[in-house]
Amino acid sequence: MADNHYDVIVVGLGAMGSATLYQLAKRGAKVLGIDRYTPPHSYGSSHGDTRITRQAIGEGDMYMPFIKRTNAIWEELETLTNRDLYLKTGGLIIGSQETGAQWHMDGDFIQRTADIATAHSIAHEVLSADETLKRHPLLKMRPQERAYFEPDAGVLRPELCIQMQIELAQQHGATVNMGEPVMDYDITADGASVTTDKGTYEADKIVLSAGAWMLGFLPVDYQSQVKVYRQVIYWFEAENIEQFTEENFPFIIWIGDKQEDFYSAFPTPRDGIQGVKVLTEQYAQTTTADTLDREVKPAEIQHLYEMTEARLHGVTNTLVHADVCMYTSTPDDHFILDFHPESERVVIASPCSGHGFKHSAAVGETLAEMALDGKTTIDISEFSLSRLSE
Ligand SMILES: Cc1cc2nc3c(=O)[nH]c(=O)nc-3n(C[C@H](O)[C@H](O)[C@H](O)COP(=O)(O)OP(=O)(O)OC[C@H]3O[C@@H](n4cnc5c(N)ncnc54)[C@H](O)[C@@H]3O)c2cc1C
Repeated sequence: MADNHYDVIVVGLGAMGSATLYQLAKRGAKVLGIDRYTPPHSYGSSHGDTRITRQAIGEGDMYMPFIKRTNAIWEELETLTNRDLYLKTGGLIIGSQETGAQWHMDGDFIQRTADIATAHSIAHEVLSADETLKRHPLLKMRPQERAYFEPDAGVLRPELCIQMQIELAQQHGATVNMGEPVMDYDITADGASVTTDKGTYEADKIVLSAGAWMLGFLPVDYQSQVKVYRQVIYWFEAENIEQFTEENFPFIIWIGDKQEDFYSAFPTPRDGIQGVKVLTEQYAQTTTADTLDREVKPAEIQHLYEMTEARLHGVTNTLVHADVCMYTSTPDDHFILDFHPESERVVIASPCSGHGFKHSAAVGETLAEMALDGKTTIDISEFSLSRLSE
C-alpha cells in the first residue's frame, strides 16, 4: 500500500477529532489527523480553560450512555497522562419556578435533569433560593428561583484534553499534520481522498470533524439546517479570587426568564486565567467560521458586567480577558453523528449545538467504531442527518 494511504483520515483535531484520532490509533489503525491550525487553539469551539460537565444530562436520555462512557475515558486518560483533566467542583443549575427553566429544547430543564438524575441514581438535590444562598452566599438569587445541585459535576480542561489525546494518538503511531487546511474530499469506488493545500491523501474512510467549518463539508441538502452563532467568554477580576477557585465555587448555569437572560459562571482553576469566567448565549445573529468577528466590543463587556453584577457578589468591572467562540447548532439542538448519505466511507461528526465537549471522549470512540466497524456500541439513531429533513 502507498505511503500516503491510510485506514482513516480525521479532518479537524478539536474536541471530537482529537478523541477520534486517539481511539483509532489505540485500536491499531493507520491514521492521519489533519488540522488547519495547531490544536489546542482558540479559533474554534474548544478553548477557554473550562467546560462544564454534568452526570445527569437534561438534554435527553440518549446522551446518558455517552456521558457514562466519556467519564470512564477521562479517568483512563488522567491515569495515563498523570494530568488533571477534570475538576470536581459541583454544579448548580438555577431557574425560576414561575416561568420554568427553558433551555436546550422545550420544557423545564431543571425538572428534566432531576428526573434523569433520579432514574440513573445520580446524587443530586433540588434546593430553594434560601437553601442555596446559605451554601453559596456569593449568589444573588431571586426568591422565586430554585437550584438543581449535583455534587459530582464539575469542569473539564478542554485544551489539556485535546493536547493529551493528540499526544497519545501520536504515541500509538498516528501521523498528525498541523497548519494544513483541508480544501476538499472525494469518495471513490474503492476509497476516499482528502485534498489539502499541500497534497492529496487516500484512505479507506474519512471522519469529518471540522466543528464550525463543517458547513462547507456537509452534504448540500443539510447545509442550511446548521447555523453558527458567535459567543463570547469573559473573565472579570474578582475582589478575592480565592472565593471563586475550583475548591470554593461550583459552576453555575443560570437559566433566565428569557433566552437572552441565560448566564453561566465558572470556577477558576488554580492554573487557569485568574478571573471569574462568565458568559451568556446569543441566537439572534448567525455567522460563519471564516467571517466570525473576533473583536469583543466595549458595549458587550459592559453588558456582561451588568449581568454579572445582578447575579454575583465579589466581581469587579475590570476585564481580565475575553475570547470569541462558536456554537454550531442544529434546529433541535441535538448532535449529528452519521454516515454521509452517499457513502459509509465518510463519517460526519458534530455540530454539537453548544453542549458537546462533555461527551467528546465517547463521541470519538463512537466515530472510531463507525469508521472501523461500520456500527456503534452506543445507539446514535437520534443523531441522524436525515431527521433534519423530516
Ligand atoms: C463559549 C462556549 C462555551 C461552551 N461551553 C460548553 C460546556 O460548558 N460544556 C460542554 O459540554 N460544551 C460546551 N461548549 C460546546 C463545546 O465546546 C463544543 O461542542 C465542542 O468543543 C466542539 O468540538 P468540535 O470538535 O466539533 O469543534 P472544534 O474543537 O472547534 O474543532 C474543529 C477543528 O477542525 C479544524 N478544522 C476546521 N476546518 C478545517 C479544515 N478545512 N481542514 C483542517 N482542519 C479544519 C479546526 O481548526 C478545529 O481544530 C461550549 C462552546 C462554546 C463556544
